[in-house]
Amino acid sequence: MTTSTTFLGLGAMGSALATAAIAGGRPTVVWNRTAHRAEALAGRGATVAATVAEAIAGDGVIVVCLFDHESVHGVLDPVAAGLPGRTVINLTTTTPNESRDFATWAAERGVTLLDGAIMAVPEMIGSPGSAILYSGSPTAFAQHRALRDLWGTSSFLGTDAGMASLHDMAMLAGMYTMFAGFLHGAAMVGAAGVPAAEFAQRQAPFLAAMVGQLAGLAATIDAKDYTGDGQQSLRFTETALATLLRATDEQGVDPVVLEPVHDVVRRQIAAGHGEDGTARIFEELRSTR
Ligand code: NDP
Repeated sequence: MTTSTTFLGLGAMGSALATAAIAGGRPTVVWNRTAHRAEALAGRGATVAATVAEAIAGDGVIVVCLFDHESVHGVLDPVAAGLPGRTVINLTTTTPNESRDFATWAAERGVTLLDGAIMAVPEMIGSPGSAILYSGSPTAFAQHRALRDLWGTSSFLGTDAGMASLHDMAMLAGMYTMFAGFLHGAAMVGAAGVPAAEFAQRQAPFLAAMVGQLAGLAATIDAKDYTGDGQQSLRFTETALATLLRATDEQGVDPVVLEPVHDVVRRQIAAGHGEDGTARIFEELRSTR
């Protein structure tokens, strides 16, 4: 008998992961709370389980991709007695502490856990741009390389099960604030009748060029020397942001996205760091716990 891979959760992402497994020639068992979402996968050759207990009845790896931490417990708690000795790859988005709690839950039940964070949208799964971060069991990471490779590029971030989701959340902070910044700019030019699509064509290469600044900011933060040459000073950045906020007002656009950035810069200047580089904002934000 060939060991099957089980997929619990067939939303947009779970379906993409299972589709890649089937395309990779793996015998695949799927389960979803709402049964009809399994139909497309059944058509591709998956075995559809009627219950979670039926889905985990084999001895293969169990891939979980559900809505959130709570739904993972909602699905797995009732079948915990059938899990000792099994490996679970949890690709559900959770906070770092939720991942750690789940790792404790798994360890107490004799389950090997590989926690993952997917840095891709469903359409990207299996294509070169798809990346998944993992943490937790190094053994499971090594054992399931063939499966991981069907989904995208993998990185292992250590045995602390929370590290994959910590990096996920930290990277999404950059993504969401970038999107919000783009929408702010689109609203500014939109007030002058410029279509968002036209603005996006100008904004995308500019943001791509600005990404080149990240390594320099990071080097400054790691060296904890914010006085170095060539850095834009906080005072310069404050003037730029103040001008930007006046322009925002001229266009009748809500400043809600930009004001917190201006505020944090002003707080650092008030604390006496106006001539330091803008990377010093890190000191205002970082945890002091
Ligand atoms: P969907 O909303 O498409 O699917 C959610 C899945 O969770 C469905 O299978 C749904 O079942 C199931 N579910 C929700 N609540 C429960 C519950 N209480 N009990 C049992 N099953 C439940 O989301 P995605 O597939 O897009 O996302 C799944 C995970 O992947 C999320 O954690 C998401 O953050 C993560 N992810 C998604 C990305 C994306 O771009 N889509 C990108 C990166 C990560 P049902 O069909 O019955 O509602």
